[in-house]
Amino acid sequence: MTRTPLIAGNWKMNLDHLQSIAFVQKLAWSLRDAKHSSAEVEVAVFPPFTDLRSVQTLISADKLDLAHGGQDLSAHDSGAYTGEISGAFLAALECRYVIIGHSERRQYHHEDDALVAAKTVAALRHGVTPVVCVGETAEDLEAHGPSAVPVGQLAAVLAELAPDQEIVVAYEPVWAIGSGQAATPEQAQQVCVALRAEIETALGAEAAQRTRILYGGSVKAANIAGFMKQKDVDGALVGGASLDVDEFSAIARFP
Ligand code: PGA
Repeated sequence: MTRTPLIAGNWKMNLDHLQSIAFVQKLAWSLRDAKHSSAEVEVAVFPPFTDLRSVQTLISADKLDLAHGGQDLSAHDSGAYTGEISGAFLAALECRYVIIGHSERRQYHHEDDALVAAKTVAALRHGVTPVVCVGETAEDLEAHGPSAVPVGQLAAVLAELAPDQEIVVAYEPVWAIGSGQAATPEQAQQVCVALRAEIETALGAEAAQRTRILYGGSVKAANIAGFMKQKDVDGALVGGASLDVDEFSAIARFP
């Protein structure tokens, strides 16, 4: 089964709505200018919530070949949850994806596996594809080896899913995020194999073969090709390097 590579840009808390318009225009121009040479690649941006309407309007008016998504959502659909954003709102803005369980949410907002699973189910309820982030800290790596923690985090989500429900998994070792010290392509491949095996155990072989697993953590134009050569790495979740149009465009044109 061929899986369409996904190059996803997580802007985190960067670029306001005016900056997002300028950025997406430049990105679309850059990608169109240098059409992909070989495999078809899906490119998605994940702006802050306050940018989503502007980004959606631009993408839809100009029929840009880009997807957009939110960086988080509420596990609830509506009601008295001050400050929260529901999956219904993201769906109404044509978000194709939503990032769930990013390590910064787990660390700074104390999101645990149960909440990440509930948010995943909420996104699917509204037809928004979850990009579920898993990954180990440097201490986890030392104590448990490379795969145990991310596989355990994924298992908590898979327990709530049916085999035909589509998610994207992002393996992001916490020690590699924003550190400039990416995992090696071989390290990423090893964990992605373990994650795929867990999907097979929970949801069957078809789901395991269909599900895209991204690597994230200090991805840049200079190292993307090594990750994309790995059989079980189906794309990248890019943070810092997604804020530079030329760099992100070069990542999306990895071959
Ligand atoms: P980075 O972030 O590319 O800046 O390491 C990745 C992420 O947090 O998704």
